[in-house]
Amino acid sequence: RFITLEGGEGAGKSTHAAAIRDWLQARGREVVLTREPGGSPLAEEIRRVVLQPWAEGVGAESEVLLMFAARAAHLKATVLPALAAGRDVVCDRFIDSSYAYQGAGKGLGEQHIAALERLVLGDFRADLTLVFDLPPEQGLARARGRGEVNRFEDESLAYMGRVRECFLRRAAADPRRCVVIDAAPPLERVRESLHAVLEGRL
Ligand code: C5P
Repeated sequence: RFITLEGGEGAGKSTHAAAIRDWLQARGREVVLTREPGGSPLAEEIRRVVLQPWAEGVGAESEVLLMFAARAAHLKATVLPALAAGRDVVCDRFIDSSYAYQGAGKGLGEQHIAALERLVLGDFRADLTLVFDLPPEQGLARARGRGEVNRFEDESLAYMGRVRECFLRRAAADPRRCVVIDAAPPLERVRESLHAVLEGRL
């Protein structure tokens, strides 16, 4: 199974990704934990470049093409081989982040993302997508508290609001694939919600 985690900054995605891996491993599954942008040698190089402060200036078109270049490499090198070998793959961010950040946040629009999705993913979709939802104010405060604000996160709350709305809209439109988890409570409580969703869905 292919499981993706989505959501804004400070929602605890990487912690929850590790919790999902542990949950699956405890049930005897072999699990590959990966992330986007990144997850393969080329894709990690692209991540390093797009997260540079100067990369802000390249514009949304270059940015989205780099994200999809990384995604294509990651799929081919990491995700598809692991699934073919019968492993579960848990991925911190995937296609919904492209719709949310470049499509809605930067205003590129849904249709260009959909075209790139067709090119790079074809019919490939996640089996389960968990959207960790948090008001942008709270997410930014958490990310700043960790000193982890990267160039994408150092953005206006309006931008983060568009990103959040897009995640929620996509989740509502595809309830078979997506579950929204309230990420505002303390980590331990969010983990309990997460476990309940996993029990119900997997
Ligand atoms: O998940 P993580 O916070 O490590 O992702 C790095 C940054 O890349 C995020 O802050 C996110 O804003 C940005 N990003 C993006 N478009 C994507 C994926 C990630 O702008 N498609």
